[in-house]
Amino acid sequence: MIVLLVFGFFISTTLYFSELSKSRAVISRTNHSINILLSGYFDELINTILVFEENENVREAMSLGEEAHRKILDQYKSILKANKNVRHIYSGYKNKLMLINDYPVDKGFDPTDRPWYRAAMASRPGTSIGLPYEDYMTGERLISTSRALRQAGGGYGGVVSIDCSVNRLVDLIAQQNEYETEYSFVMDLSGKMIVHPDPALLGKPIGEITAAYGEASKGDFDFRLGRREFLAHFSSLPSLGWIVVTVVERTEIFRPFISQALFLIGLTGLIAVFLGSLQSIVLSRRLSRPLLELGKKIKATIAGEEPGSGEYIYPNNEFGVMAWEIEQLAEKELNAKTRKLQASEEKHRLLIEHTLSAVAVHDIILDEGGKPVDYDFQSANPAFEIQTGLRVADILGRRATEVMPGNPTPPFLDIFGQVALTGGSVSFEEYCPPLGRHYFINAYRLGEGRFATVFMDITDRKEAEERIQKLVAQLETERDLAQSNSLTDSMTGLFNRRFFDTALRTEFSRHKRLGSHLSLIMLDVDHFKKFNDRYGHLAGDDCLRRIAEALKTVVERAPDIVARYGGEEFVALLPNTNSRGAALLAGRIREAVLRMCLSHADSETSEFVTISLGVATATDHLLTDEGELVALADQALYQAKTNGRNRIEVLTATL
Ligand code: GH3
Ligand code: MG
Ligand code: MG
Repeated sequence: MIVLLVFGFFISTTLYFSELSKSRAVISRTNHSINILLSGYFDELINTILVFEENENVREAMSLGEEAHRKILDQYKSILKANKNVRHIYSGYKNKLMLINDYPVDKGFDPTDRPWYRAAMASRPGTSIGLPYEDYMTGERLISTSRALRQAGGGYGGVVSIDCSVNRLVDLIAQQNEYETEYSFVMDLSGKMIVHPDPALLGKPIGEITAAYGEASKGDFDFRLGRREFLAHFSSLPSLGWIVVTVVERTEIFRPFISQALFLIGLTGLIAVFLGSLQSIVLSRRLSRPLLELGKKIKATIAGEEPGSGEYIYPNNEFGVMAWEIEQLAEKELNAKTRKLQASEEKHRLLIEHTLSAVAVHDIILDEGGKPVDYDFQSANPAFEIQTGLRVADILGRRATEVMPGNPTPPFLDIFGQVALTGGSVSFEEYCPPLGRHYFINAYRLGEGRFATVFMDITDRKEAEERIQKLVAQLETERDLAQSNSLTDSMTGLFNRRFFDTALRTEFSRHKRLGSHLSLIMLDVDHFKKFNDRYGHLAGDDCLRRIAEALKTVVERAPDIVARYGGEEFVALLPNTNSRGAALLAGRIREAVLRMCLSHADSETSEFVTISLGVATATDHLLTDEGELVALADQALYQAKTNGRNRIEVLTATL
């Protein structure tokens, strides 16, 4: 197709140029013949004029009578008859005499005013040739050839003239045309139109044309008038001072070319279609048909169908052979695949048959709104019976709600529905009330609306887990109790001596590191032995508990530690507390105990229970270890006892 188009393009180009040069030759030939025709035409007129100029009667008509005039007119008439190209032949004289046939001359007519008369006078003694002018009466376009008449007495007294009609010339010129749009016209050297088929243009200058041909005497040129483009040839007529132009519209030249080009394109298309069809027939025979048949056979083989009778036989060409070989290969491959698939299916069947897990296949059952409401049992493996205690034969084709009334519960039904409809897999543990067993269940999708469950009875494991959990909880409770016992004093609920010792070590090392104050209050119940003796041991214990309560209420800062030091002795460890602050707090403790008004009839100090307090403060790195702080507090307490009890003594470390 492309080759044909390129070929067509070259042919068209060649045609175009040959058509162009042919048309130029045609219009040049037309132009040339018109040129010759017009020269001959006017030569004849000039000769006739010269004959009459020599005629004495014509020259001297002004001085002759009517008889002579009629003779002249007769002679003119015979010329008119003999030469169809002559429109008028006449002579006019300076005394207004006008000799002309069949032309009414009114009184006001003055020949000397007429263009032909003036032109002849201007050209004397020569001939004025080819003067265009308008008829005096009718306005008809005429071309005059005239010559002044010399008088016997000297000077010029008249003019003899022959007119030809522009229309006649147009007709003459028109006979020469070969193309439809071809025509010729005549202009003078100034570009004014003298002879033209369109009378509207006569007498008007057409600047575009004169500009196109320039100074030469003949040649080709192109020009444009409005939207129309022309090819043109011109030649000059020097004797007349005329230019003959022959033109043809460019579109006409191209019309045959275009039709030929269209024909060629059409032909190219037809050849292409023909070749294409030929090729497709050949391809269909050689390529498409064997491939289509191959496709059909492979489909049939996949579907497991036997090839029908009237079997297609591949052609004995390269495509036929290739298709046959592919068919053989595909068949072999498919057979191998089928065997593999069968082996794999058997393997899976055995696995499901012998696995300890229950495996069941179900279809989900939906309500009208597409919501899962139940599922059934499509198949189940032997382990299903062991895991559930249900017989497979009893459940096949039945719904879960029938087989296990009360099951499945909505959340599990929704889970199964989601798996069966949208895919994926889920694993969860479920207690099944109708069977009274716990199961670990894995569900996954098998197809649209179908799913499988694989599950195991985990009831024993669940029960063991519960037992273990209970034991763990019990152990934890006991551990908590033991832990709190090791830190606190069971009678008062305050921290015990062990905890206090540890806390004291920690706080003392912090005091050493940071240089902060660390105070210790040590207190002892006054005459407690006597209290016991008087009120009994249980009352003594109760008294100690009340004192512990009072201590806890007064010493409330978070970092402070209140502990039972031993017997009826208590301590308050006060980090970041100076001697003054500790003494203040000790005072508040003493008052709090006193305010409780616990009767002590045998006390030598007061009627109520009182306490003595020793306060010691570690400061300025004066103490080297925590034992020194305890000793200092003990010393202060001793002083409080010896100084009368129910009082506070404060000691600070000194060098
Ligand atoms: P002082 O004013 O000098 O301290 O006289 P006191 O009688 O309190 O003397 P001391 O400190 O020697 O006696 C302490 C008594 O406290 C001895 C003991 O019977 C009694 N006691 C110690 N621990 C307990 C206890 O847990 N419960 C009871 N009820 N009494 C205790
Ligand atoms: Mg004591
Ligand atoms: Mg005491």
